[in-house]
Amino acid sequence: MSQPAYDVAIVGAGIVGAACADEFTRQGMRVAIVDKEMVGGGATAAGMGHIVVMDDSEAQFALTRYSQRLWKELRPDLPPEVEYEQCGTIWVAADEEEMADVHRKRDFYSARDVPTEVLDSRALQRLEPNLHPGMEGGLRVPEDVVLYPPCAAAFLVHRAVKRGASLLLGHAVTHAAQGRVQRADGSGISARWVVNAAGASAAELTPGLEIKKRKGHLVITDRYPGFLNHQLVELGYLKSAHSVSSDSVAFNVQPRLTGQILIGSSRQYGAEHSEVDHQILARMLQRAGEYMLGLVRMSAIRAWTGFRAATPDKLPLIGQWPGDSSLLVATGHEGLGITTSLATARILSDHVAGKQSQIPIEPYLPSRAAPEHSHV
Ligand SMILES: Cc1cc2nc3c(=O)[nH]c(=O)nc-3n(C[C@H](O)[C@H](O)[C@H](O)COP(=O)(O)OP(=O)(O)OC[C@H]3O[C@@H](n4cnc5c(N)ncnc54)[C@H](O)[C@@H]3O)c2cc1C
Repeated sequence: MSQPAYDVAIVGAGIVGAACADEFTRQGMRVAIVDKEMVGGGATAAGMGHIVVMDDSEAQFALTRYSQRLWKELRPDLPPEVEYEQCGTIWVAADEEEMADVHRKRDFYSARDVPTEVLDSRALQRLEPNLHPGMEGGLRVPEDVVLYPPCAAAFLVHRAVKRGASLLLGHAVTHAAQGRVQRADGSGISARWVVNAAGASAAELTPGLEIKKRKGHLVITDRYPGFLNHQLVELGYLKSAHSVSSDSVAFNVQPRLTGQILIGSSRQYGAEHSEVDHQILARMLQRAGEYMLGLVRMSAIRAWTGFRAATPDKLPLIGQWPGDSSLLVATGHEGLGITTSLATARILSDHVAGKQSQIPIEPYLPSRAAPEHSHV
């Protein structure tokens, strides 16, 4: 049998594919990155870039915290345009019931060595004077970070290219399995490993992957330096993120280094079109105004949408696809793919090297969700 042209062929140059390209080339492997469009142009361009530790489940915590540490390690190498900033998160509690959640969250993080600070109403007001004064309090998580995802993806891909990776853009992949990636222009690539990092479109290449598109909206404002100091997220956000049926909006705002403010966010299943939905946008901005009145008086520059790749159990799919020993899956990161991209890449490269990962990989293995007799 002839030698494959590459060790790894990665389909998708979003943040997840980019992180994989960086990691596999760091291990000295011959890598090809293939995308139908551009680097970081999918959900990665639409995302907020909040590198956030989460506590929905132990598995989600482990992956987000591990990846946050990897981002921190990467920080000295990141160019300024990635706009890495450790501004921290404040989870805002609007009432006493949400304040109980602040304490529950603090206990969870403290037990796992994540620094936090419980804020009463006054302390919250001091840190974020533009918040509505009636808020009950909040939880500050100072190690959370924000960054600009498309530039982070570009940095990772270009570093991989400098190490010798091939970057093939402009033609859709029509087949990615059994050590082969086939492109719509008829060209093909052989590789020992194929990585499906096609985000919300991943199931088109790997039938049987349980991925649903979950649409989100964001708005960016003009520059208002000093208006906002932390990423602010309403504690009700978790209810919104967990809703599996209805459309939902939640207050989630981010300060950019430019002084601009990114306003989010919404979640919709079954919305296949990428057009901005003005009703959802109005609901989202109304919610933002309920927390920070000043936001609705600002001038907005642009609104856009993106598609998160959602799985039924809210954990990503990372690892070998059953029935094809060459195929690795790296998708289903929903609203946490920027955060968890680096850990995803590290888990896959450990798998390929036959090494044990720093966190248990079982909760993310695609075999947990794959149909019993999957033949790709
Ligand atoms: C509104 C919104 C806010 C978000 N906020 C955050 C946040 O604050 N923090 C966070 O961690 N995450 C956030 N996310 C989630 C995050 O953006 C995604 O999880 C992440 O970008 C997924 O990256 P990816 O590389 O898997 O997918 P993508 O970035 O979508 O990349 C997939 C790539 O595959 C390519 N592709 C697809 N099909 C093919 C094919 N057949 N052939 C060739 N190429 C193909 C596409 O062109 C694309 O470039 C947010 C998402 C949205 C929508």
